[in-house]
Amino acid sequence: MRLKNIASLLLSASLAITIVGCGASSDDSTILKMGTNAAFPPFEYIEGTEIVGFDVDLANLIAEELGMELEIMDMEFNTLTGAVANGIIDIAVAGMTNTPERRDSVNFSEGYFTSKQMIIVPDDSDIKVTDDLTDQTIGVQLGTTGDQFASMYIEGADIVRFDKGALAIADLLNGTIDAVIIDAEPAKNFVAAQDSLQILENPFVEEEYAIAIAKENTELTEQINDALSTLKENGKYDEIFDKYFEKVE
Ligand code: GLN
Repeated sequence: MRLKNIASLLLSASLAITIVGCGASSDDSTILKMGTNAAFPPFEYIEGTEIVGFDVDLANLIAEELGMELEIMDMEFNTLTGAVANGIIDIAVAGMTNTPERRDSVNFSEGYFTSKQMIIVPDDSDIKVTDDLTDQTIGVQLGTTGDQFASMYIEGADIVRFDKGALAIADLLNGTIDAVIIDAEPAKNFVAAQDSLQILENPFVEEEYAIAIAKENTELTEQINDALSTLKENGKYDEIFDKYFEKVE
């Protein structure tokens, strides 16, 4: 068995896969398999037994444009690009930032959302600006751009990596860590649910979320880009945007 096959077997065996939606059709070409990590509100999260959120609505609209049926698999965030590259899923839609490192293994669609990393600290924290993070214990989500940023730029930081942002927030609340670095919208979501946490202004650069597609699947990349432009033109993108986000005046 070739190394790549072994790697993909190991990958599929280690994934905690939840398949949502109807997969009854026998024609595989009509199914668009999307991978996500449903712990990133409001882009993807679990409501009851369903995976919902902005990315799910967007992917459903794209599937509709493509005449396909969306099937969603919930997996660890840091396994998503591998799953795309190995063909386990067709696309990853997971608030995933288009980064040069990821472009080594997957293609990205046009961007569909602009974001930023944010710093969350307790209201009474001594951390007031990004520089105060030096030598602190910082919680991040494993394999995310927040993890990359903290690891590369914050001197002396003790970085604690969590599978889910909510677990990092729990440790911040119980004082095990000093700060959490996470994307802006989930940050607002997590902080809104607590009355003792705040978000700090920060100078981190903007990031662009995009859909990851296998490198060899250039046709799907084109189809998805076409669908994205159609949805931006016909107002359907704006409809879901308004459903999940406050308008910036
Ligand atoms: N935007 C971040 C990244 O791409 C975090 C995404 C996520 O946790 N779902 O790394």
